[in-house]
Amino acid sequence: MTTSDVVVLGAGPYGLAATNHLKQIKGLEVRTFGEPMSFWEGSMPVGMFLRSNWTATQIADPKHVLTLENFQMECGNHLHLPVPIDRFVQYGKWYQRKALPDLDRRQIRRIESDSKGFRTTLADGEQIVSKRVVIAAGIGSFAWRPPEYASLPSELASHTSSHVDFKKFAGKQVLAIGGGQSSLESAALLYESGAIPEVIVRSHKINWLQGWASKTLHHRLGQFTRSVLYAPTDVGPAGISQLMARPDLLKHLPRPVKDRLRKRSVRPAGARWLVDRLRNVPIRLGRSVVSVTVAGDRVKVRLDDGSERTVDHIFLGTGYRINVSKYEFLGPELANSIRTFNGYPILASGLETSVPGLHILGAPGVWSFGPLLQFVSGTHYTSQALTRRIAAGGPSR
Ligand SMILES: Cc1cc2nc3c(=O)[nH]c(=O)nc-3n(C[C@H](O)[C@H](O)[C@H](O)COP(=O)(O)OP(=O)(O)OC[C@H]3O[C@@H](n4cnc5c(N)ncnc54)[C@H](O)[C@@H]3O)c2cc1C
Repeated sequence: MTTSDVVVLGAGPYGLAATNHLKQIKGLEVRTFGEPMSFWEGSMPVGMFLRSNWTATQIADPKHVLTLENFQMECGNHLHLPVPIDRFVQYGKWYQRKALPDLDRRQIRRIESDSKGFRTTLADGEQIVSKRVVIAAGIGSFAWRPPEYASLPSELASHTSSHVDFKKFAGKQVLAIGGGQSSLESAALLYESGAIPEVIVRSHKINWLQGWASKTLHHRLGQFTRSVLYAPTDVGPAGISQLMARPDLLKHLPRPVKDRLRKRSVRPAGARWLVDRLRNVPIRLGRSVVSVTVAGDRVKVRLDDGSERTVDHIFLGTGYRINVSKYEFLGPELANSIRTFNGYPILASGLETSVPGLHILGAPGVWSFGPLLQFVSGTHYTSQALTRRIAAGGPSR
């Protein structure tokens, strides 16, 4: 059994940025676990592009040195917008090597708490006792598979996060369900891989980003107007973007206002650069699936307009539903002690849960601090807020 002041679970953008900031606190012992950028590498498709803009794609660094600009310069390879996923993964790993060369890649099997603090058990059985634990485990555990597809095996229907390489679908008929970026980009990549995709969208229109109004505001009104209307964090439309960039302010708004602003800021939408790539892909708007039945090694799908098709596979671009009790590494007693609302932990300042000393970063923090926390650009806020909280001391365990 070893000890540490803080254990950080996760080496994605949130865990990396948090550890890098915590290292600024003199004498604080921090141990961080996880495979760097594993979600980006193992649950997002090859050939994907990031939707966030340049400033919003920077992982927070307290010294402002581990930037995309310096990554480019050091690696001698020009980066362009939209940023391709493989380059972003390289950037994240470069960040990790510079800031956390001592990262421990072992998996955490269990986190429990008792009167002495937190006990973290690693996959190989080693245990660490700490005063604080910071969870930055991302959304991988929350992939949402709607119940109407429960009867289908994963060979016939799978969540978009289950696929990295689409080549195996060449020549196959595939239905992509959903009108957000994951479903639309999967359909484009499927088509480009030789598959025959069709997209089914429940709503009557697709929200394409960077439309005429947004383009005008971004490019024609000049730097000053742009910086007044849009924060560098790039979450939310003109004006609202500034509020989304300030989670401490947003936190104090009445719940119905917060919920409306969140919905407006992160509604399902597709990047404009997908429009051309989807020109040859049929998109059925205002339609939903009413039944699915296994038909040999294919699946028969009936839509609400009565039409039927038999396809080889269904891609569920149905997003993620946060529910922290699904984090398998949380001991049941600890999971039950975290106050939640609809699966989201209720967080205080410093992203601290109702269990003193237990912090949760990233998308689970959206209910308390707004949608900024589901994007890379939220690492600036969470790392600083966490570091302030831990540096201030006070009750933990
Ligand atoms: C298809 C898709 C496209 C996206 N595009 C963008 C975009 O363009 N821009 C943007 O800002 N955001 C985008 N996002 C959101 C993006 O996922 C988050 O911004 C980001 O990954 C959150 O980082 P994180 O550190 O919280 O989690 P992750 O990046 O998921 O990292 C989780 C870390 O936890 C580790 N871990 C998990 N369990 C354990 C365990 N038991 N023990 C040890 N380690 C563990 C993992 O190994 C990993 O290191 C996209 C999401 C999806 C699904």
